[in-house]
Amino acid sequence: MSRLCVHTITTKPLSLEQCLAEFPKRGVSGITIWRQALEGRDLANVKHQTADAGMEVVSLCRGGFFPAKSATVRQKAIDDNLLAIEQAHAIGSPLIVLVCGAVPGQALVESRKQITDGIAACLPAAEAAGVKLAIEPLHPMYADDRSAVNTMRQAHEICDALGSPASVGIAVDVYHVWWDPELKAQIDLAGQTGRLHAFHICDWKTPTTDLLNDRGLMGEGCINIREISDWVDATGFTGHREVEIFSHKWWAEDQSLFLDQIASSYGNLYA
Ligand code: ZN
Repeated sequence: MSRLCVHTITTKPLSLEQCLAEFPKRGVSGITIWRQALEGRDLANVKHQTADAGMEVVSLCRGGFFPAKSATVRQKAIDDNLLAIEQAHAIGSPLIVLVCGAVPGQALVESRKQITDGIAACLPAAEAAGVKLAIEPLHPMYADDRSAVNTMRQAHEICDALGSPASVGIAVDVYHVWWDPELKAQIDLAGQTGRLHAFHICDWKTPTTDLLNDRGLMGEGCINIREISDWVDATGFTGHREVEIFSHKWWAEDQSLFLDQIASSYGNLYA
């Protein structure tokens, strides 16, 4: 259980304080904090609270959403990412996950160029703050408005275009990339290039009834999670395995019961 991390969005009905009280009871040692969970809070205090709870802050979710048709809106996105970098630094998060963005009707190649430019504009601040950035490729069903980066290969291409700075890497989320025939090779490459910054797990349900909020608990679906996880570990990755589940079904349940299920399905997966 020492590598189990849970995202605050996974137990969305719980406040940050409730997460910090409930997660450790199940042996969860890491927490990825979504920015909405920080609203109205003193960030230095959040850093102390997480440390007092014995929890390691694994990452801050999320930055990104760089592409836009107007330069003004693109600059707003960069400003928001600069704010995220300040927030990450303040709460002691070593990493920000980037959901890179896309604009319906704008060519994906143009969006990827804007993403590359957006990350480049944030890089000096990220490096000064000691905060890494992780590009998370999203499943192609989100290529219209959530991310023009849909494969690990494309994420690598952006890292290459940026000149392979050590502070920019990739977040591998099984939900988004499990179908990719190049997955193992691209994970190997991420290991070799020092770009494997984060690993997210959940499951793909059949049928999936909601494109965003019907993710499954590990074991509820068809993803070869353990095999992908072994590929990730084979690169030398020793970071947390982050449970990130958006689910109307699970959010409607007793979150205490849901956390018990997360711990047991994680235990089964890594038994
Ligand atoms: Zn993810």
